[in-house]
Amino acid sequence: MRCTADGTGDGVLTTRSFAAGETVMVGFLVGALKENDSHATQVGPDRWARHGGLGPKVNHSCDPNCGVRLNDEQAFDLVARQQIHAGQELTFDYAMRNFTIDHFPAVCLCGAPRCRGSVTGWKDLTAAQKAGYGDLVAPYLLTMDNEIRLAHSGTASTG
Ligand SMILES: [Zn+2]
Repeated sequence: MRCTADGTGDGVLTTRSFAAGETVMVGFLVGALKENDSHATQVGPDRWARHGGLGPKVNHSCDPNCGVRLNDEQAFDLVARQQIHAGQELTFDYAMRNFTIDHFPAVCLCGAPRCRGSVTGWKDLTAAQKAGYGDLVAPYLLTMDNEIRLAHSGTASTG
C-alpha cells in the first residue's frame, strides 16, 4: 500500500503533471450544511458545505503542493503551488479553508519536514506561513484577519 498524507493509503494522485499556477481540480458543492463536521468545507465565516467529486478525498499537508481558490460556484478549485509530477499525491493545507479545525485527529501524519504536528486552522498559522500561501487561500480568512487587526488597533487607540 502506498503511504499517503493521512497514513491510510487513501488520497488523490495525479495522472499527469501540472505547472505551478495551473488549476488541478475544479471544485463543486453538493449541498449546504447547517454546521461544521469532519468532511465539511468552510465557505464563509459561519457557513459550511459539502464538496462533491474527489475534492473531499484530497489530504491535508503542512507543506502542500496545492492551494485553494474560490470559484464562481462558491466552491474551491485546487491550484498547483509548484510543479507537480504525474503520480504525485495532491495535498493542500486544511488551514487554507478553515479558520479553526475542530473535527480532526490531534496528530498530523503528513510527514512534511515542517509538519506542525497536528492539523491546525488558519488562526494557528504564523504570519510567514500565511504570506507564503499568497492568495491561494479562502478569501474570508483574509477578511477575518483584517477584522481582527482592526478590532485590535481600535482597542489600542482608545488606550
Ligand atoms: Zn503535518
